[in-house]
Amino acid sequence: MYIGHNDHGERVNLMGRSKQDISKLTNQRWWCQSCGMPLSIKNGLVKQSHFAHRKDSACQNFSEGETEEHLEGKRILAQWCDKFQLQYQLEAYLPELNQRPDLLLAGEIAIEFQCSPLSLPRFIERTENYQRHGYRVVWVLGKHFFVGKRLTAFQRSCLAYQQQIGFYLWELDVDKERLACLLHMEEVLGNERPFYSRKVWEKGSISLLSVFKFPQHSKLFIRREYDQQAILLSYFDKIERGLVRRDRQILSIQDLLYQQGHHLRGLDTCFFLPITQPLFGKEAVLMWRLLVWETLKKSPKTTFSDLFQDFYLSFKQSQSSYFVMPMVPLERNLRLFLGDYLAVLSHYDYLVYQEGYFCLRQLPQVFMSGQERSREVRHRLANSNHISAIPRQNMLS
Ligand SMILES: [Zn+2]
Repeated sequence: MYIGHNDHGERVNLMGRSKQDISKLTNQRWWCQSCGMPLSIKNGLVKQSHFAHRKDSACQNFSEGETEEHLEGKRILAQWCDKFQLQYQLEAYLPELNQRPDLLLAGEIAIEFQCSPLSLPRFIERTENYQRHGYRVVWVLGKHFFVGKRLTAFQRSCLAYQQQIGFYLWELDVDKERLACLLHMEEVLGNERPFYSRKVWEKGSISLLSVFKFPQHSKLFIRREYDQQAILLSYFDKIERGLVRRDRQILSIQDLLYQQGHHLRGLDTCFFLPITQPLFGKEAVLMWRLLVWETLKKSPKTTFSDLFQDFYLSFKQSQSSYFVMPMVPLERNLRLFLGDYLAVLSHYDYLVYQEGYFCLRQLPQVFMSGQERSREVRHRLANSNHISAIPRQNMLS
């Protein structure tokens, strides 16, 4: 950490001081602003000079051994603020929360630059604690957590959502000194690799406050087109192979379906659409769509809000598992899921939307075989690409 307190209770910042200057401070006593325990100054040649706890410290807020990347990241963010004369506090200790964001921007945005692993319960607790006290928290991921071939549970829990840019994440590359927002993030049926667009800011290019307000004020239009026929057919092949080879993942879905009198091979195409999958979902998305159908059968003419209430209740009762996103409430996620699903059902004439009501027009088909379903997909979904765009057009949710 850069901030320590001396015997007179003064806050001293090591950032930006010369090694020689700092060496004059090493014979004084220093204290942690958070836990009150003694600190020592590390003034070596390799890392940025910083304060550190003794080895056996149990300090809650500075317990993760601080890496060079973490120190560098804080330096980059602080210099970026300095350039635009923004009001900020480095390692601002917030006693009412007993938390210490790496940077508190404009008194309200708590920035946490996460470079080392953090347990999920601790992450959720910290995030909710900020929110309860009226702070907006921004988790910025270090290189260890940059998005790769698939989204980890931790990356999913760091996702935030805005209608303008969809689901998004922040990454700070300290070597290149730039921040990136990975936005309009989505996953597609049968694919592990997430799809996203990237907006990058070089250090000092615009005010850091504007960067972190980008999700609310973005003017970007992004339109993605997926060949949904190809994606569905290849997923149906995967199901077929999985059933034959007794693949564990496919069989566990099949087991769940079987308990409710369904078979993966016989399910109507509408259970696999839209091909973009909710990011908080695990394998259970099919089951959630079945839940929607049960609700629809009970009330064949219904408003969005009534349908949502019923669906939300049965979702809770089903004890489905899902990824917790402390920055996106479950209800928000479920509304997005339901809105997208109803849009699909209306598009393919299962429902019709009239004067504020969804009216049931046809029930899903039951196919006798996988081949029969694939024939139907070739016929019905020929040349129909799935279009996914931001800002979101679907106003239902
Ligand atoms: Zn401490």
